Amino acid sequence: MSFNTTTPVDLYPTTDFSSLNWFEHQWVAWYVTIGNPIIATGLMSFLLHEIVYFGRALPWIIIDAIPYFRKWKLQANKVPTPAEQWECTKLVLFSHFTIELPTIWLFHPLAESIGMSTYQVPFPSLKTMAPQVAFFFFFEDLFHYLAHQMLHWGPLYKHIHKIHHKYSAPFGLAAEYAHPAEVMILGTGTILGPLLYCYFTRDFHIVTMYLWITLRLFQAIDAHSGYDFPWSLQHIVPFWSGAEHHDFHHMAFTNNFSTSFRWWDRIFGTDDKYLQYRARVKAAKASMKDASKEQQDAIEAKLMAEVEAEGIRAEAEAEGSAPKTLKVQ
Ligand SMILES: [Zn+2]
Ligand SMILES: [Zn+2]
Repeated sequence: MSFNTTTPVDLYPTTDFSSLNWFEHQWVAWYVTIGNPIIATGLMSFLLHEIVYFGRALPWIIIDAIPYFRKWKLQANKVPTPAEQWECTKLVLFSHFTIELPTIWLFHPLAESIGMSTYQVPFPSLKTMAPQVAFFFFFEDLFHYLAHQMLHWGPLYKHIHKIHHKYSAPFGLAAEYAHPAEVMILGTGTILGPLLYCYFTRDFHIVTMYLWITLRLFQAIDAHSGYDFPWSLQHIVPFWSGAEHHDFHHMAFTNNFSTSFRWWDRIFGTDDKYLQYRARVKAAKASMKDASKEQQDAIEAKLMAEVEAEGIRAEAEAEGSAPKTLKVQ
């Protein structure tokens, strides 16, 4: 491997540098400095993943530490402790270095062999990237909806997906807290869309992949944050899943299998219990309009505890470890 031996002329013999924007200049400088496009791409991709993952999780760690935000916490009585967050970080880092690093490193030569651009400039326009990213969101969401239900099947749940369900009240860092096999299975939904797009169009730039990965990580971490603010995206875009949707999946162990959008759960009825629960909370609150805030919170906590107890039974059944007395209920 050779560092610092590449000149702009080697990689960019016909590029007009005067027409490039600031980001494209930095891009060229990175590839020229590293001197080896495969190493430069692999390193940048892994760094991007780490910086975005932990960078996006950090505000949620801070929010968890400030009691003021508790009023928007979906399961307010379950705030992760620093020890829990650290334990989660260790497994996430282990999986990043053992599973995601090699996958990221292999992805680029594979994608390049079917037509992906990496070091090349200029970048595609936002107008070109936006529909591609929209397709990746749609594809990943459908893939995840199906694969996630498969992971809830007894043997796969018991040996693989159970790790991700360790936290019945998730938090940002827990987005990728999962068995290595799950990281592989569900990660396929994230990279298969771009690979298929690349294969069929032969016109794809890795910077679009970076935009997609960044947005996808934001989606996953925010969905696990455990907070639903009045300004959360799902209140602006009603079919966006957000934390409110996925938090229920962790709390109740059932329903809401998709990632970004609510439509597949709605179409196939895998949000029935979630909708019933929401209706129950709404009705209880309406009937207690004049009650104190504490009384309203208490009734919500009671309904939550019921759903969670049902979830614990359902989980035990999925694992085949439900006591007989519970099974006949
Ligand atoms: Zn699950
Ligand atoms: Zn989850």
